[in-house]
Amino acid sequence: MKLKRLITFFLLVFFVNSVSAKFPRFKMLAFYSEEVESAHIDFAHQAIKFFKDLTIGDGFVFDVTKNMDDLNPEKLKDYSAIMMLNDFPHTEKQRQAFREYMENGGGWFGFHVAAYNDRTTNWPWFVDFLGGGVFWRNNWPPMPAKVVVEKHDHPVTKALPDVFISPINEWYQWKPSPRLHSGVEVLVSLSQDNYPLGLKDIIPDSDCPIVWSNTNYRMIYMNMGHGDKIFTDPTQNALIIAGLRWIVSIDKKGNVFED
Ligand code: ZN
Repeated sequence: MKLKRLITFFLLVFFVNSVSAKFPRFKMLAFYSEEVESAHIDFAHQAIKFFKDLTIGDGFVFDVTKNMDDLNPEKLKDYSAIMMLNDFPHTEKQRQAFREYMENGGGWFGFHVAAYNDRTTNWPWFVDFLGGGVFWRNNWPPMPAKVVVEKHDHPVTKALPDVFISPINEWYQWKPSPRLHSGVEVLVSLSQDNYPLGLKDIIPDSDCPIVWSNTNYRMIYMNMGHGDKIFTDPTQNALIIAGLRWIVSIDKKGNVFED
């Protein structure tokens, strides 16, 4: 009887160890700011809840920070990917750390303002990273839009319908279109049926990719990220989850989902 109990104990220890060795599968670090416009903060708070809910069962670690100086090699070394919830590197040091992280195979999932750049940005590497486009114009007020899923053979979009209505968002258009960049794969774009899109500020026409990857890096940009309605659509939520999963799955250190 005693021996039986001992064996059970060791089996239990072995089981617990083998389970804890697998979980969490990976770590993500999300950057956000509370010093930006309120609709962008609303999104960041909802995104944090959305992604934290996905960690149930210790599947992965989702850390968050408001300190952009956490963008440094020491802090980033254990994270499979970082997320930018409406913020981006500001100082030279942060920019350098970000570039190094991405050029060494780091993952990036950027939303909305995370890709913002204009003539004052003075960071050519970042513009190229995002597909070569500079902010051109937006719609106002924020509105839902019909979006076209362009690829059905990509892991991020293969489960999605050809078109869906994406919830209320402020949409950005870039010039030139990121589609023209040789490394960019456009996954989702605004349907031409929306045009003219907006009342005060209008996107009248032209190509408008809203979800894409620069395949020279392990990254996805999503234009969604303005206001508190982004996570209200199951189709869009599925797209967001598939995006996160794909970025992590192609980590050169190995696919954690296949262990
Ligand atoms: Zn916005």
